[in-house]
Amino acid sequence: MSTRRDFIQKLSLPLMAMPFAASAANELEKSGFTAPKITPSTVADGPVLRVALMGLGGYCNMVAKAIQACPRVKITALVSGTPAKLASWGEKYQVPESSRYNYSTVDQIKDNMEVDAVYIITPNALHKDNAIQIARAGKHVIVEKPMALNAKEGKEMIDYCKKAGVHLLVGYRMHFEPKTLEVVRMRREGEFGKILFFQGLSGFVIGDPKQWRLNKALAGGGSMMDIGIYSINGARYMVGEEPIWVTAQETKTDFVKFKEGVDETIQFQMGFPSGAVASCLSTYALNNLDRFFMDGTKGFAELKPATGYGPIMARTNKGEIEFPHVTHQTVQMDEMAKILLDGKQPIIPMDGEEGLRDLRIVDAIYEAVRTGKKVKV
Ligand code: NAD
Repeated sequence: MSTRRDFIQKLSLPLMAMPFAASAANELEKSGFTAPKITPSTVADGPVLRVALMGLGGYCNMVAKAIQACPRVKITALVSGTPAKLASWGEKYQVPESSRYNYSTVDQIKDNMEVDAVYIITPNALHKDNAIQIARAGKHVIVEKPMALNAKEGKEMIDYCKKAGVHLLVGYRMHFEPKTLEVVRMRREGEFGKILFFQGLSGFVIGDPKQWRLNKALAGGGSMMDIGIYSINGARYMVGEEPIWVTAQETKTDFVKFKEGVDETIQFQMGFPSGAVASCLSTYALNNLDRFFMDGTKGFAELKPATGYGPIMARTNKGEIEFPHVTHQTVQMDEMAKILLDGKQPIIPMDGEEGLRDLRIVDAIYEAVRTGKKVKV
């Protein structure tokens, strides 16, 4: 039977041998950085993933609560710029003061042997620098979607994490949702025949005009970065192919709330190598838009809601798919523990490369909006 040490060795050697090109990585090398070895001392000595939460905002709160039901995950550190949050969260989740960091002290997390991974749940524009800082500290990186502002940043993060010998995972919670996985299984086994069409509708009415999601510098765009990315990602795991082209059109009705560079609504189309097409809508202007529909020569699947916090509802031409609701973030975190500690392979990938594929498509969609042309991915 292979031991954890064998696994860790298998894990780190190929990573260290990988070609490494991006500028951030070169900077890392020039700075005299030596990649911390992932040894058993930096990985849980029990079967539990010890996680630091970074951000302590709305979604982080949901993740923290969900982790309380995880047999294999424990919150062992916190990172926030707000001392009051560090104190109250620290008390609530029994994180000692010595494991509470702010953004200036977080480098010290490298010496904290009670932390295996840091889950970055900050505004999109901070993900890249946060991730690089954590990788430099020798901890595995879990980062929320979108993994970065664009593909260039995403690639830098991947290269940096490889160089540092740490894993980079993206918080794609739908990749662990049982009904979604059942549809993917059915499609893989040919139950829907040849897939020719996918529709993805992703939207909600956004509130407070002052929030970071409506600030291009922090969000990187508008609805596409935040919610449209679910339709992009969903099209890929539902159809089971990578798109080769996109076309896109933007519509804006509120020019005060949605400033230059912050998209309110984008309709986009994607073409896949098999000839399948996807027709999608991303919007911050309408509620009741959370639906995936896929049609093939032998059958169809519908997820509605498809990506909300659940329960997800799924039906196919064969009837309803009935599985009990699970808290997405609980399952996601437990599965991430298995990926990081046991080397388990997820059914749908959720590593940095997966996040990068989505960002390449986002970049292409924004280019298609700007140019009005069909853009190759
Ligand atoms: P939020 O505004 O509720 O929380 C963001 C946190 O980051 C706050 O605690 C804030 O204090 C902190 N922060 C640190 N530096 C900041 C800065 N310079 N400016 C503003 N805030 C700063 O946002 P959220 O809804 O928790 O979203 C955080 C991330 O999580 C985003 O990337 C978002 O896309 C992602 N998210 C994912 C899901 C999901 O279902 N996977 C759901 C919601 C949000």
